[in-house]
Amino acid sequence: MGYSTIDSAASAGFAASGAGSTKYDPTYDPLVSPGPGHGKDYAPTYWVATAGSPPPDDGPVTKDLDVDVAIIGAGYTGLATALCLAREHGIKAVVLEANRTSWGCSSRNGGQGQNASGRLSRSQWIERWGKDVALKMHDEIQQGFDHFKELVAEIDCDPQPGGHFLIAHRPRIMAKLAAEAKVWKDVFGYPSELLSAQTFRREFIDDHEAAGALHEPEGIGVHALKLAFGYLRLARAAGATVHTSSPVMGWETINGVHHLRTPGGVVRARAVGIATGAYTAQTLHPTLRSKVMPILSNSMVTRVLTPAEIAACNFRTTQVLTDTRTLRFYYRFLPDGRLQIGSRSAITGADAPNPRHLDLLKEGMARKFPALRGVEIDYSWWGWVDVSHDMMPRVCQPDPRQSVFYALGYGGNGVSYSQQAGRRLAERIAGKGAQHALPIFTTPLPGHPFAPFRRIGQRMLYLQYFRHDEKP
Ligand SMILES: Cc1cc2nc3c(=O)[nH]c(=O)nc-3n(C[C@H](O)[C@H](O)[C@H](O)COP(=O)(O)OP(=O)(O)OC[C@H]3O[C@@H](n4cnc5c(N)ncnc54)[C@H](O)[C@@H]3O)c2cc1C
Repeated sequence: MGYSTIDSAASAGFAASGAGSTKYDPTYDPLVSPGPGHGKDYAPTYWVATAGSPPPDDGPVTKDLDVDVAIIGAGYTGLATALCLAREHGIKAVVLEANRTSWGCSSRNGGQGQNASGRLSRSQWIERWGKDVALKMHDEIQQGFDHFKELVAEIDCDPQPGGHFLIAHRPRIMAKLAAEAKVWKDVFGYPSELLSAQTFRREFIDDHEAAGALHEPEGIGVHALKLAFGYLRLARAAGATVHTSSPVMGWETINGVHHLRTPGGVVRARAVGIATGAYTAQTLHPTLRSKVMPILSNSMVTRVLTPAEIAACNFRTTQVLTDTRTLRFYYRFLPDGRLQIGSRSAITGADAPNPRHLDLLKEGMARKFPALRGVEIDYSWWGWVDVSHDMMPRVCQPDPRQSVFYALGYGGNGVSYSQQAGRRLAERIAGKGAQHALPIFTTPLPGHPFAPFRRIGQRMLYLQYFRHDEKP
C-alpha cells in the first residue's frame, strides 16, 4: 500500500519557501510551514560565528538513489544515528538534511550536556512508572551520559566539565531541591550537594536570585556546533553519507520501500529514521501529525565581559546552570569571557522577532546580575524545542508493519541524550535492541486531544507558569 504524506499544495509551498532564497527566515514556524526550507542559512548564533568553516559534507542529492537506510535530519540525533549504524552495525546510512549540517536546534542550543532527558525529574519518573522502571531509566540516561562524555573527549568542542547547578530561584524551592537530592541518593545512588545561597553566591556565581543550589556531578558545557561538526566528521569517516540542501518534500511507500522525494532526486530506502526534532512538518509522516509540540526558546551571548564585570558577578565557575522556574533560565560563563543565557520566547514564529522577547531575557539577566544591566549583546537567536505531550522522549518504531523509526521529544534536554537516542534508534533500525524495554522505547509519542488548539492552551499555561514561578 502506498501513501503520499505531503500533498501537492503543501509541497509547492515547501518549494516556494526554499527555492531561490537561502536567507535565514526568523519567522519560520513548524506548525504553520510545510517544511524547514531548502538550503537555508544558519540562524545567527554565537556557535555559528565561532565554529569555523563547516567540514565537508556530501552536498545535495543530485539523482535518484537506492539505499538501505535513510535518516531525515542532520542534527545531533540524525548524525549520531548514522555514526552508530556505521560503527556498530556495519550499515552505511544516507542522511538527508533540508538545510545545513545541524541547522535546527543542534546549532542553536545552550550547549548544556546534562544527565537527563525529557522534562520530568527523577522523582517524577517514580510517580509515573514506579521505582523499578525509574531505576532502569536512570541507568539508560547515565549510560547515555557516559557515551556522551566519550564523544566529547573525541571531538574538539571546548568542553566545560564539572557538573550542573540547579539554582533555587526562590527560597520556597529549597525544600523541593532537598527532597529531590534525597531521592537521588536513596533510590538511585546518585550523589549531589545542596548549597546555601551564601555558599553558592560566594564560591561559584553571584546570581542575585539564587536562594541556594543543588549541584550534581554530571554535566558538561560544550560548543554546540563544534560538537555537531565533530559528529559529522565521525559519521562520514565511518561510512555514512550526509546530503545537505536535500529536504524530504514528499513520501510514498510502495511495496514496503519508502520513496523520499527531494529536489534533486528520489531516495528509495528500505528503512527510514526520522530525526527532525521540533522542525518536523505536520505533513512529513502521518504517524507524527500533532505528536510534537514545538516551543520557542531564546538565547543570547554578551560581548566579552571586562575583569570588573566578571568580578562584580563573581563568575568563578564555568559549569552549566539552570534555574528552577518552569519557564527556566539556563546560562553559562563561556571560555572566551562572555555570558550565554537563554529562556522562553514567543509562542508563534511570526511573533519571534518582536523585541519584547529579547527585552524579557535581558531583564532576566539583569535581575540575576545587576552589574550586566545594559551590557551589549553580541548574539541573539531563537530555536524550536521538541516537547512531547507527556514530557518524555520516544525512540521507537510506531507501527511494527512499517520500517519507519523516530527519535524525538527531548523537551529541551537533548544535547547529551540525543546521541544515546541515536544509538537506540540505530539498534532498532538494525533489528536489535528489543531488550531495552523502557516505556520511552516501547510506546509511541502520545497525541493531544486538543491538538489544533494547543497554542491557546500554551498561552494560558505560560501565564499560569509565570504566576507560579514569580510567586515569592
Ligand atoms: C534555544 C535552544 C536552547 C537549547 N538548549 C539546550 C541545552 O542547553 N541543553 C540541552 O540538552 N538541550 C538544549 N536544547 C535542545 C537541543 O538543542 C535539542 O534537543 C537537540 O539539538 C535536538 O537535536 P535533533 O538532532 O533531534 O534535532 P535538530 O538539531 O533540530 O535537527 C533536526 C534537523 O532536521 C531537519 N529537517 C526537518 N525536516 C526535514 C525534512 N523534511 N527533510 C530534511 N531535513 C529535515 C532540520 O533542518 C534540522 O536541521 C535547546 C534548544 C534550543 C532551541
